[in-house]
Amino acid sequence: MNVTEKFPAVRGVLQENVNIGEKSFFRVGGAAEVLFTPSDMEDLLFFLRKLPKNTPVTILGAMSNVLIRSGGIKGVVIIFDKNFGKIFVEDDVLEVGAAVHCSELSAAALNHELGGFEFLMGIPGTIGGAIKMNAGCYCSRISDSLIECEGITFSGQTKWIKSTDMNFSYRASSIPDDLIITRAWFQGTSNVNYSISKKINEIAAKRKDNQPHQRRSCGSTFKNAAGQKAWELIEAAGCRGLKVGGATVSEKHCNFIINENNASAEDIEDLGELIIQKVLENSGVLLEWEIVRLGSKSNKE
Ligand SMILES: Cc1cc2nc3c(=O)[nH]c(=O)nc-3n(C[C@H](O)[C@H](O)[C@H](O)COP(=O)(O)OP(=O)(O)OC[C@H]3O[C@@H](n4cnc5c(N)ncnc54)[C@H](O)[C@@H]3O)c2cc1C
Repeated sequence: MNVTEKFPAVRGVLQENVNIGEKSFFRVGGAAEVLFTPSDMEDLLFFLRKLPKNTPVTILGAMSNVLIRSGGIKGVVIIFDKNFGKIFVEDDVLEVGAAVHCSELSAAALNHELGGFEFLMGIPGTIGGAIKMNAGCYCSRISDSLIECEGITFSGQTKWIKSTDMNFSYRASSIPDDLIITRAWFQGTSNVNYSISKKINEIAAKRKDNQPHQRRSCGSTFKNAAGQKAWELIEAAGCRGLKVGGATVSEKHCNFIINENNASAEDIEDLGELIIQKVLENSGVLLEWEIVRLGSKSNKE
């Protein structure tokens, strides 16, 4: 039986056994058993409502914060395309599709002379992923300007959630794991007393100075611990440059793991676990993964 017989007849694209790992920022990992790219909201709602019960569902964005394990992801993986990538601006409010890239929102805000989105220019994910992760840097977080989100549950119910009901904290929120964010509304700040483009350029320059550039990585591997920067703890534990197989702790920013030399997903995860162990032994702090690890280690699991 092929995928079109097993799953609802959609207008979007359904594909079987798609190697999504190679499209992730680490460029490594396994396949999605089924990959669904919905053509619009109705298509997504129809698919979810008709999906056979107990089919696992995973929603992904640009895959800039996920490690896809080698055994791949069972069930259906949903990734949006440009049909969910539109931005509308009315006065100082921006309506943004989940597939819009953070840098596109930053650029749209700049074009409309709206402040508050400069920090997003260097974050390589989508708005859906950024909201789920409460992405941020340089003292700003995406939750600062978020008004409201539209989402669909895995069972096909539409929901609107106000930002104030999402309990945002550092890289976390109470957004349920079975909610697919489809659109979001943001409050821009008009008449700011600084140059938006200058601030964007300053942030870009800081990133270039402090972070490895154009490498196969997912940014910060671990969350900062209470009052302590993860990179400082990792450095103090002697992990700068540490390697497992083809995975390396960046010399430039030691909270970044890089797929330097054809690392496997296991190399990356094992290196992360080794760092956790060394930091715990050295400082007594238990680091928490910021990167989301998905799927099974072997395709037999
Ligand atoms: C070089 C580099 C620099 C980075 N710098 C930063 C930084 O400064 N600050 C920062 O916070 N992060 C940073 N990141 C990490 C990453 O870019 C962000 O976490 C980003 O917001 C993830 O978005 P994504 O679309 O890639 O999500 P993915 O990696 O695809 O997914 C991440 C999580 O979000 C969930 N998700 C994705 N889309 C949706 C959706 N539509 N609805 C519900 N859940 C969804 C996924 O299920 C998963 O749990 C960096 C990454 C890299 C590679």
